[in-house]
Amino acid sequence: MTHIERDHTWPEISFQDRMDTVRFDVHERAHITVDGRTCEGCSTQACVVACPANLFVPTSDGGIVFNYEQCFECGTCYLVCNEEGAITWTYPDGGHGVVFRRT
Ligand code: SF4
Ligand code: SF4
Repeated sequence: MTHIERDHTWPEISFQDRMDTVRFDVHERAHITVDGRTCEGCSTQACVVACPANLFVPTSDGGIVFNYEQCFECGTCYLVCNEEGAITWTYPDGGHGVVFRRT
């Protein structure tokens, strides 16, 4: 039987180069909102490391700054957040949001 060697390594690509392969048709309505007052009591800030698009940025006073415009709509932030009401999550209005394209 023939043994096939597989290459399991991923090509080196910078975060910005990866983001540049994706287009966003941003709608004026934020499809995800974050209640900063609820975040002030959060000890994990799990969203910061979980979001693949780096859209949650911790502030020096323990808060969170969030920007919805380059969201992949993966839902990870909503899954990892344990604080009731911190994240309000919907999909963008029809025809808007992330548009993946091949390179
Ligand atoms: S969004 Fe959720 S996980 Fe992220 S800082 Fe706020 S409460 Fe914590
Ligand atoms: S849905 Fe995904 S990409 Fe969008 S903010 Fe949440 S974790 Fe980040």
